[in-house]
Amino acid sequence: MMKAITGTRDIFPDEIPKWNYLQSIVESVFTNYNYKEIRTPIFELTTLFARSIGEATDIVGKEMYTFLDRSGESITLRPEMTAGVVRAFIEHSIDKKQNLNKFFYSGPMFRQERPQAGRFRQFHQFGAEALGSNDPLLDAEMIIMAYDIFSLLGLKNLLVKINSLGIPSTRENYKNTLRKYIKPHLEKLTSESKKRFHTNILRLFDSKEKNDQKIMENAPLLIEYLDEESLQHFEKVKQALLSARVPFEIDARLVRGLDYYTDTTFEVVSGSVGSQSALCGGGRYNLLVKELGGGEIPGVGFAAGMERILLACENENSFTLEEKKLDLFIVALEKGLEKVAYQSAVNFRRKGLAVDLDYQNRSVKAQMREANRVNARFVLLVGGDEFTKGEIVLKNMSNGEQQSFAKDDFEKIFSTIKG
Ligand code: AMP
Repeated sequence: MMKAITGTRDIFPDEIPKWNYLQSIVESVFTNYNYKEIRTPIFELTTLFARSIGEATDIVGKEMYTFLDRSGESITLRPEMTAGVVRAFIEHSIDKKQNLNKFFYSGPMFRQERPQAGRFRQFHQFGAEALGSNDPLLDAEMIIMAYDIFSLLGLKNLLVKINSLGIPSTRENYKNTLRKYIKPHLEKLTSESKKRFHTNILRLFDSKEKNDQKIMENAPLLIEYLDEESLQHFEKVKQALLSARVPFEIDARLVRGLDYYTDTTFEVVSGSVGSQSALCGGGRYNLLVKELGGGEIPGVGFAAGMERILLACENENSFTLEEKKLDLFIVALEKGLEKVAYQSAVNFRRKGLAVDLDYQNRSVKAQMREANRVNARFVLLVGGDEFTKGEIVLKNMSNGEQQSFAKDDFEKIFSTIKG
């Protein structure tokens, strides 16, 4: 039997309404904050991700779906969207048209991670990027938008964590301080953490190992080394969150794995989804546009995982959707009238009704059963004595009432069903 690739999922029709509901909330919130949708390709040159996300990250080092195409070019399925958005922004000189550009997106991403609850190899993210301003109000805006989306979905068990990574020079100095602190403990660290000590020392804070964590407990924290400008920036973000009534917590150990962050980083975690609890993450990345060959253009953004959000919604039972009913099921009461039934269905569908009928040559009883099974609001009975007299019967399935119409009076039947 052919099977889907490990870590990928089929999304069947019964799940689609909640995906569409999430998508509609995402679009309406981003639209209200004046973000415009952007769609970039699902695959890009590998160098784009290597340069933007950074060689020392798990994503680039271990998780990317990278392959040579038939012309020998190294291609990667996008593991996230920021790189693609920034590439498109630079390539098309979008900043020449207006200074500040606010984008949002949604779509599939690909990472070869170990699959578990809430972690997939093809998953979906929505997110936003604002390019062209260093205003801390935009950092806060990202967090507020994410929070608004989660609130509209009815999610409650949330924690917003924020931190500041400062500017690169502060960070480099701090890394030296951290190195000095770790050095005497180096041999006690796990091999993964030892590797990170050399490649991406900030990520030592991400270790899940008890012993590593114990060592990191007393480590100096970057937030204590921030310069005045970064401190002020951070203060403004906090003030904006307070005014917007977004509850948050400062987490000085929130470093995130990506190299391009500056100043604000944040994450929203849910207490309702188990160990993979981050619903979204993001931050400011003032160095990325330049790194990818553009100007000195600051940026800030975030990405949220849609599977995890829907899992949190399900676990919290945070919303219920009304089941969409079929407007009309057309039943042919006699052989030979299938064509009439079929053409009526086409006509009503073209007028905007959701209509179905039998395609399996089934008995009247079976057709009625089907009408019930699909939850049709009305059934149109084509045939019988009435039909010979030039009439057609419409049955209201919620109360069993039947009403006769002249059989070519589509308008009247239509408006009765439409209600
Ligand atoms: P990141 O791009 O790593 O900052 O991730 C942003 C968000 O995407 C996370 O908070 C998760 O909600 C989601 N996410 C990341 N990786 C996965 C994955 N492998 N499976 C499902 N969701 C993911």
